[in-house]
Amino acid sequence: MAATILVVEDEPSIQSLIEVNLRRAGHEVILASDVETARRLVGAALPDLILLDWMLPGLSGIDFARQLRRDARTKMLPVIMLTARSEERDKVEGLDVGADDYITKPFSPRELVARIKAVLRRHAPQVTEDAVELGGIRLDPVSHRVTAGNEDIAFGPTEFRLLHFLMTHPERVYTRTQLLDQVWGDHVFVEERTVDVHIRRLRAALEATGHDSLVQTVRGSGYRFSAT
Ligand code: CA
Repeated sequence: MAATILVVEDEPSIQSLIEVNLRRAGHEVILASDVETARRLVGAALPDLILLDWMLPGLSGIDFARQLRRDARTKMLPVIMLTARSEERDKVEGLDVGADDYITKPFSPRELVARIKAVLRRHAPQVTEDAVELGGIRLDPVSHRVTAGNEDIAFGPTEFRLLHFLMTHPERVYTRTQLLDQVWGDHVFVEERTVDVHIRRLRAALEATGHDSLVQTVRGSGYRFSAT
């Protein structure tokens, strides 16, 4: 499982300890030492998960978590709070602002990696390597294959990622901007109609086995994968 993880931590030694261990676990790591920098990075491209220190210079991690939850674009972004405070009421406050998990320092790198994996599995299934089976098609991220029954369906890399995201978030409508964020990792430099082009290619590939109707257009809103 390879995710892009934004680490917001002001302590250089802890920052590099986390970086080394997350890279070793196969993740891509982006570093920020304060909320200002983190906000800029998130504004440019959404990471798959944020590891967020509570005590930071300037705006605190908890305030940043609160902001992320208020913004429609980042509302669903998985956040794990990192803190030296181990009191129960701190933990409750951390989870109250919408953090998905809470890790107390000092922590073992193994525990950190395991907790990240658990949160990703729950909230960002498109970055796990679990195969998805829905609506008569099966997508396997490990072998990079999509099959319908015994038939292979060939996709370009973008169509594959798009289908993977939609299949792991079925029955929900996503706008073009959201899809750019989630699938392209960028919502600034790619035009929205790019999404339409790739949806069209995705449907064309699915047409061969009669599964193109799984990818639906919701007029005025966006796209949805629906197996019902
Ligand atoms: Ca700190």
